[in-house]
Amino acid sequence: MRKARLPPELRVKKPQSKQKKKKQREQLEAHLQKPRGYRRFTPTSELPLERFDAQGQRVCRWCGGSLTGRQRSWCSVACNEAWLVRSMPSFARKKVLERDRGVCVQCGVEAQGRDNQIARELQKERRLRRGTLTRVVLRDHLKQHLLDILPRYGLSDPGEMGWQMDHIIAVEQGGGECGLENLQTLCTVCHRQKSKQQAAERAQRRKAVRSQGISLSGEMP
Ligand SMILES: [Zn+2]
Ligand SMILES: [Zn+2]
Repeated sequence: MRKARLPPELRVKKPQSKQKKKKQREQLEAHLQKPRGYRRFTPTSELPLERFDAQGQRVCRWCGGSLTGRQRSWCSVACNEAWLVRSMPSFARKKVLERDRGVCVQCGVEAQGRDNQIARELQKERRLRRGTLTRVVLRDHLKQHLLDILPRYGLSDPGEMGWQMDHIIAVEQGGGECGLENLQTLCTVCHRQKSKQQAAERAQRRKAVRSQGISLSGEMP
């Protein structure tokens, strides 16, 4: 599915503070220390660039099967894709979009199609107004126009647009670094709901562990 883009005036990226960047780097490093399956994606540095069998013959980097003809890395397109899905988030997202067409598995909303329509409406409005408004006024006008049309698409704020590539078995349960079979499309609203629920469950588990710890230490002489 071709993705329609929002007008450039609305494609603002919030600048990140140095502190936030540093924190993100630290989080990423801690993340990479986790065992296989407990990370979202496998860093390419951990995947073999070439693979040989006991006889020294080059074999498929993914399945270890034999290569034929001009093949150097992969025995099939499937093996190449299996590798890319695990190591390249943008590739995984592209594949999930190809399969699910941007339709939320939870509520059935056509998130990608809806966002494309919104983007097209805004581009049209931009073409209409562009010559008559200054850049700043045009930006504010488009922002307001977006807020005005969102309710027609069942949304109340721009943050609800988009869709997320969701892990069916959560990463924290070992569902990370997975193939397409563990990835699904959720609209942003449904994804937020799921995240909230997961956070609540996490808190519950922590609470259970804590109270157990107290009762155990209570038994100590
Ligand atoms: Zn293979
Ligand atoms: Zn949904």
